[in-house]
Formats: sequence, C-alpha cells, structure tokens
Amino acid sequence: MAILTPLADVSPGRPRLALTSPASLEKIGEIEIHDSKDVSAAIDRARKAQVDWGALPVSERARFLVRALEVLLSRQEDVISTVIRETGKPRTEALQMEVFAVADALNYHAKNAERVLKREKRKLHGMLLFMKQLRICYRPLGVVGVISPWNGPFVLAMNPTAQALVAGNAVILKPSEVAPFSGCLAGEIFSEAGLPEDLLQVVTGDGETGAALCRGGVDKISFTGSVETGRKVAVACAEQLIPCTLELGGKDAMIVCEDANLKYASGGAVAGAFMNTGQYCCGTERVYVVDSVADEFIEKVRERVSKLRQGVRGEFDVGAIFWPRQLEIIEDHIADALEGGARVLAGGRRNPDLEGLFYEPTVLTEVDHGMRIMREETFGPILPIMRVADEEEAIALANDSAYGLGGNIWTRDRGKGIRMAQRIQTGSVCINDMTMTYGVQEAPFGGLKQSGVGQVNGEMGLRQFCHAEPIIVDRRGGRLSDKRYPYRSRADLGLQKFMKWLWGTDLGRRLG
Ligand code: NAD
Repeated sequence: MAILTPLADVSPGRPRLALTSPASLEKIGEIEIHDSKDVSAAIDRARKAQVDWGALPVSERARFLVRALEVLLSRQEDVISTVIRETGKPRTEALQMEVFAVADALNYHAKNAERVLKREKRKLHGMLLFMKQLRICYRPLGVVGVISPWNGPFVLAMNPTAQALVAGNAVILKPSEVAPFSGCLAGEIFSEAGLPEDLLQVVTGDGETGAALCRGGVDKISFTGSVETGRKVAVACAEQLIPCTLELGGKDAMIVCEDANLKYASGGAVAGAFMNTGQYCCGTERVYVVDSVADEFIEKVRERVSKLRQGVRGEFDVGAIFWPRQLEIIEDHIADALEGGARVLAGGRRNPDLEGLFYEPTVLTEVDHGMRIMREETFGPILPIMRVADEEEAIALANDSAYGLGGNIWTRDRGKGIRMAQRIQTGSVCINDMTMTYGVQEAPFGGLKQSGVGQVNGEMGLRQFCHAEPIIVDRRGGRLSDKRYPYRSRADLGLQKFMKWLWGTDLGRRLG
C-alpha cells in the first residue's frame, strides 16, 4: 500500500512521499517524485540506448530475459517480502501471483519471442502472387512507457516491461505510488541480469509523473490501472498520436448453471472473490446462480467463507486492503447495498480484531442491479450472489454492465459452457475455474467496453510492442514501372475486360 504522506516541505530537493504498510501500519520507506524534467531526461537516455538494443537479434535480447529469470529465482524472497510489506498480501499470493507468474512469463517470452517476432513471408493472392513478394518485419517502436497499478505491483510492472524489452524497445517504468518498491525491484532485477544501461529506467511518483511520461515523447504507453486514469492516458496518447494499450477495471460475472458441480463452483467463487483480498482486476465481483441450485450453492459458499483466516503474519488467507481510498469505496458499496435491501451472510464490516486496513470477507445475498455493488468495480473482498430464473437471465445480467474484462461459467456440459462464453460481452471467459486468463501466457489478455483497449500477452500482445512493417518486393526487378505511367486508355479497356473475367466468373473469383 500504502498510506501516503507528502513530505515535500520537510525534505530538500525533489518532493517525497512516505509509505506505510496497510497491514502493520509501520513506516516502510519513502519515494522521490520525479517531475517532467526527470522524465524527459530518462526518455532521452532511453532513446540513445535503444538504437543498439533494437538492432540485436531477438535471440540475444531473449537471453537477458533468461538471466532476469535466474536473478528472480535467486531473489524471490526479496520480491515476496517487498510485496508483502507494501500490500499486506498473504505469502502464498505474493509467491504465486507475483513470483511464479513472472517467472513463467519470462521463460515463455524468452523461449517464444524469436519465433513470434521473426520476419514472416506471406503468400499473396491472385495476380499479385506472380508479381510481388511480401515480408512482414516486426520492428521495435522505440521507447515504451509502462505505467502500472498497485494491486499486482511486481507482476504488472515486470510482464509488460519484459515483453516491450524483448521486442527491442527501451522502457520507462512508472510504478504505482501506492506500491512503488516492487516496481523498483523490477529495475534492479534487469540491471543485475546485465541489461545495458538506460534500457530500463524506473521513474517514481504519482499521477503527475505518469502524465509527464504520456506526454514526454515516448512511442507507446502500456497502461494498467483504473478506467478513470485510463481515459486520461488515452486522451494524452491521442494528442501525441502514439498508440496505447489500456488494461482497465472490471466487474466480472460468474454464472453457476443448474448442472454445475456445486462443491467446485463454491470453491471457485470464494477464491475468485477473496484472492488478493478481492483487489484483482479479474476478481469475481458478482455471481448469478440458477434458482434451483441457489440454496445449496449459497450454503456451500457460507461454509467455506467461515473458515477463511485474515491476518498480518504467519499463515492466513485474506490480507489487507492496500490503501485507505479502496476501503472507503468498499464501505460505500456495502452501505448502498444494505440500504437497497441486501442481506449480509458473512462479514460486512472492518475486521475489529486487526489494527491495519482490513475488511472481513463478505457475502451478500438479495442483491439486484439497482445497487452499486452490482454495477461499479468494488475491488474488495465482497461476494454478492444473485438468484436467476435460468441461464438466459444470467447471460443477460452478465452483459448488463459497463465493464467487460473477464468472467467464469460453471457447468458439467463443456459444449454448453463454450456456447454461453461466446455470448458474454467480455474480454475472456474461463469455464469451471475462476478467471485466470492472465496466467495463461498464450492467451491474449485485454478487456471490452470500459475494461480496456488492446491486448497484452500471447503472440498478439508481444507483437503490439512492435510495428508490423510490410516489405513488398517486385519479382521482376521493377519492369512494370516502365509501362504503368503515363496512362494509356487502351490499357484501361484491357483492365476492365480482365476485371469482368476475374470477379464476374466463378473460375476468376476462385483464382483471384
Ligand atoms: P490508477 O488508475 O489509480 O493508477 C494506475 C497508475 O496510473 C499509477 O501508476 C498512477 O500513478 C498512474 N496515474 C495516475 N494518474 C495518471 C495520469 N493522469 N496519467 C498517467 N498515469 C497516471 O489505478 P490503481 O488504483 O493503481 O489500480 C487499480 C485499478 O487497476 C483497478 O481499476 C483495476 O481493475 C485495474 N487493473 C486492471 C488490470 C488489467 O489488466 N485490466 C490489472 C490490474 C489492475
């Protein structure tokens, strides 16, 4: 987290922010706020460093990912303790969501980048086949700005950074001011891996530092964060005429069909809603369960939630809320739901036994779409469950949202699950698991509607850190140019006759 205190007036030089652990409320350090001059200087250095880096073969760049992986494995305890210190996550979450996920991504991109980014020869159609050859070259964009959020402070800084680097770009990383030390570790790990100087620079600070990065002359922004900030980033990038990917918030729906295995579905609901204390972009934020199985499902959920342990040290399942503003949103949503007639089945309050920022894992029933808890991103350990008449109603309600990031469907009929998934307006769907798309390296990840623009991860995501440059080569050494210009009306008549045959007959269309 953290609780942030400006220190501008007590510290000479750059303004600073002090950070406090959300779990123990102990001071955990300070960061400097880098301003637009710092950001511009970093971009200038990065641009110089990128020239040689971009010219290296992908396989050589990939070697630095392998070295970073080795450093990460040897420094995993540093990463775990840093993430825990600034977020109050359980150790298992820091290990699985941050260290394991990054290690897997580094290895995947190190192994696959060369294949994904190699020059492609594409066969042309029709007459062009005999006249031209086409090559597609994936060229680095230059300097990429990566702006990351607090909820996955290491993984969401490392993943886009590693992809942008292996694609041949230099990176300026601006981690969240709420959890900046994990982002700084990303810089240290690549530096220890021997990455040439200035190819990855970390600038710390708040929204103003992020805004300076968007307008500082980079060639792309890879942004992960809220819809509200994403909109500002999109405007800044539009004004600079640079591309951006926006990985934004969500309100993921879970659908429990009549034929679902309720033991597994209840497990998926509880993990999906409470993992990362619900501060997970693809967290399960609303459940629609078919009425005929709702009582049994709700009871199973209640039983599981009653066993969850919340804490600061040792073994526990549900951690802290990462910062006070999030706690306020959670409390507002719960108050609004209770006013509207929701029933609290578990939790429903701050944890009175813990001093830090803790909200009890909460299950609500009797909820409806008039409530903020079913419409706005809550980003907390809250599981609202709504009964529906049938699967059709569940799909309609799942689609009744401004968001579309992930979602999950529980059924014993795999074919039906896939058919339902194709009708949900969202970025990705998991069947019989909580939404874990981000952990599947091959899967492009991104949202629809207000949940984002563009995708990261997978082959498509990696290529989005490049410009796909078509190179077209004339097979006959340019002979056509001799005859094409100036125009001759006889040639027009010939072309029209040819078109009549090419697109006016079955044979022509087949060959064309
Ligand atoms: P946020 O939008 O408040 O901040 C994200 C980053 O943007 C921070 O580094 C912040 O300093 C920076 N920033 C703030 N103002 C800026 C500006 N004007 N220009 C440029 N940068 C600016 O988000 P957050 O609260 O840190 O993160 C939580 C949100 O992120 C949630 O909505 C969550 O759903 C979303 N999220 C999405 C994904 C995804 O992949 N779709 C993943 C994780 C989190």
